[in-house]
Amino acid sequence: MKSGAFYVSTVGKLLKWARANSLWYTTTGSSCCADEVLNAAGSRYDLERFGCIPQVDPRQADLLIVTGVVSYKVAPHLKAVYDAMPSPKHVLALGACANCGGMFAPEYSYSVVPGVDRIIPVDVYVPGCPPRPESIMNGLIALQEKINGNSRPHFKAQ
Ligand code: SF4
Repeated sequence: MKSGAFYVSTVGKLLKWARANSLWYTTTGSSCCADEVLNAAGSRYDLERFGCIPQVDPRQADLLIVTGVVSYKVAPHLKAVYDAMPSPKHVLALGACANCGGMFAPEYSYSVVPGVDRIIPVDVYVPGCPPRPESIMNGLIALQEKINGNSRPHFKAQ
């Protein structure tokens, strides 16, 4: 390998590592799954160990954690939040409601989007109702692996 290629490869890996370990997130917080995000961010589970730091302003976030029900009325605003985030950006769909509408799926409610991936691209889906903090951490680790170029077959990563 030529020395130039070596440096490009090494810098690329370093950038991926830095991106994977500094996921600043913003969250929608519309339903009960948001409590689990707060729980995971608290002192017991301490998401900041993974470099995951909450941000209020989407323009300073590179990860959007979508929690809970997304109605058709809210969908344009969620898209606006996603569009305001700088690239490269990632989305984690948290819980059954964000993944597929959950108990508010279209067969039960006309007003709920049957999965947030109808509006914005999703990187990792975390199942559960609600997902435990361990599941959230598992989803974040899966996202870190995806950014680093690895993947796990049991997570639906696009
Ligand atoms: S998946 Fe369950 S816990 Fe999460 S927002 Fe929906 S109903 Fe609430």
